[in-house]
Amino acid sequence: MTETADLAPIREAVRALCANFPGEYWRRLDRERAYPEEFVAALTKAGFLAALIPEEYGGSGLTMTAAAAIMEEIQASGCNGAPCHAQMYTMGTVLRHGSAEQKKRYLPGIARGELRLQAFGVTEPTSGTDTLSLRTTATRDGDHYVVNGQKIWTSRAEHSDLMLLLARTTPREQAKSRTAGLSVFILDMRAAKNKGLTIRPIRTMMNHATTEVFFEDVRVPADNLVGVEGEGFRYILSGMNAERILIAAECIGDAKWFIDKAASYARERVVFGRPIGQNQGVQFPIARSYIGMRAAELMVREAAALYETGKDCGAEANMAKHLAAESSWAAADMCLQTHGGFGFAEEFDIERKFRETRLYTVAPISTNLILSYIAEHVLGLPRSY
Ligand SMILES: Cc1cc2nc3c(=O)[nH]c(=O)nc-3n(C[C@H](O)[C@H](O)[C@H](O)COP(=O)(O)OP(=O)(O)OC[C@H]3O[C@@H](n4cnc5c(N)ncnc54)[C@H](O)[C@@H]3O)c2cc1C
Repeated sequence: MTETADLAPIREAVRALCANFPGEYWRRLDRERAYPEEFVAALTKAGFLAALIPEEYGGSGLTMTAAAAIMEEIQASGCNGAPCHAQMYTMGTVLRHGSAEQKKRYLPGIARGELRLQAFGVTEPTSGTDTLSLRTTATRDGDHYVVNGQKIWTSRAEHSDLMLLLARTTPREQAKSRTAGLSVFILDMRAAKNKGLTIRPIRTMMNHATTEVFFEDVRVPADNLVGVEGEGFRYILSGMNAERILIAAECIGDAKWFIDKAASYARERVVFGRPIGQNQGVQFPIARSYIGMRAAELMVREAAALYETGKDCGAEANMAKHLAAESSWAAADMCLQTHGGFGFAEEFDIERKFRETRLYTVAPISTNLILSYIAEHVLGLPRSY
């Protein structure tokens, strides 16, 4: 599956922008665990983060394939899209399931970058992957809902105005089905801070601006309920394919960066009087990584193409994310090995990218859960959990 040529200008434009944010920029932020404000502002100004917002709301109205190319190029340039990738896709839930009034109220501001909707509050400390067991509640009180509970790993919450929040509105035992009783809200965090909302950063092995969030009687206007009360789980699931495809594209970009770095180094580094890349023990792992990356890339393109036609792409989006995350991690390991001791030195950026790309076999969904999905939904095997 070859990409059409019309994406070349977008790819070039992303690369040109990323060239202004070289390794030393990311290294400094990594050391300080600081947010890449300038990088995010530049991507926003160029309109890249509004790629998937339709033109009628001020976005660029691009395809999923184009959006994936943007994310891939960011990673292939050595930059990191994680601090802002959710600005691209979290709005999809509002776009697909929000009311006309909500779309008018939020999407143009998100498209301009004046409003950041890049916090996604699903995971909780006690439920983990078992989303249906989440305990955060939203209880109706007049024209508001009152939210109580806790989320964890709510990335970018400190750098977002709005949060897409999943909370239980009907107790599990009273819900009409296994998946009913959860609802999605657009939570305005600016209004909620100091009114029951507390955000605490979690320091992680990479610079990821992730947090835990506590809700104590946080009041959310009933107008901010997305779609129908109790149907929220379905709305969240429908947004996950976009997330998986875009993150898979980021992994492809990472893999390309690692492969390029390794091949260049293997051509230049001379030990025992010859380039290390002349040894099959060094060149074969690079070739193997390249083959794995290209295969994963085809699945990412297939998933994006299916997504665009509006067909069910659940299996392809999951497989793309799985193959791409495994491929970027294998390439990271290979690249570090190819560099020997220098792979561990900060100034080569490999150890930083190695830590960053490691995330994607765990989040936004872990490998085992993808395998379970394919086993159950594609192969018809019994549900294992
Ligand atoms: C840096 C970071 C950023 C994140 N950002 C966000 C965010 O913005 N918003 C958000 O909502 N969440 C976010 N997450 C959460 C992420 O989606 C979860 O960490 C991930 O889905 C795994 O859930 P868990 O950590 O609770 O693991 P658990 O559910 O506790 O699972 C632990 C391990 O057990 C395995 N496992 C569990 N159940 C089964 C089973 N039935 N069969 C086989 N294996 C099983 C899992 O695959 C995993 O390997 C983030 C996480 C990280 C680390």
